[in-house]
Amino acid sequence: MTPAGIRFAADGMLQSLATWLRALGYDCLAGRAQFGRRLLEQAVAGERVFLTRNTHLAHDWPRVLVERAQIHHIAGETLPEQLREVVETFSLDPERFLFTRCLVCNEPLRAAEKSAALPHLPARVAAREEHFWRCERCGRFFWHGSHVQNSVTRLRRWLEK
Ligand SMILES: [Zn+2]
Repeated sequence: MTPAGIRFAADGMLQSLATWLRALGYDCLAGRAQFGRRLLEQAVAGERVFLTRNTHLAHDWPRVLVERAQIHHIAGETLPEQLREVVETFSLDPERFLFTRCLVCNEPLRAAEKSAALPHLPARVAAREEHFWRCERCGRFFWHGSHVQNSVTRLRRWLEK
């Protein structure tokens, strides 16, 4: 299950923010090969909110493109500030869809059988975990180990006022 409706594209300086939006389950285009004008064009074509720290877009790029785009300038300097800003501005649910999307590929995860995951797991994980998810693009398996609880703890601290 992933959130419907809002989708993002995160500009070059916002890769950590993009990864965290994916961790929250939200669709966010980003990557070393995707930034600047080309990413803005993809955002317009895909009706995505373009997240950027570049305040000179209107000067640098064609007006017709900038005017069609839904652009949100990120004011926050630090990752926690940036994440809080996006969660509040777009009324995201920060926990409902946690870890439903591949952090690397931006692809929604699918539930996977333990038998399929087994050959790819460290022994301690195989002994302890029963529920697995898989990214069909990169083939990685995921499970809700201690790293997930650590991430939730950090997330709650960041989003506190
Ligand atoms: Zn993946």
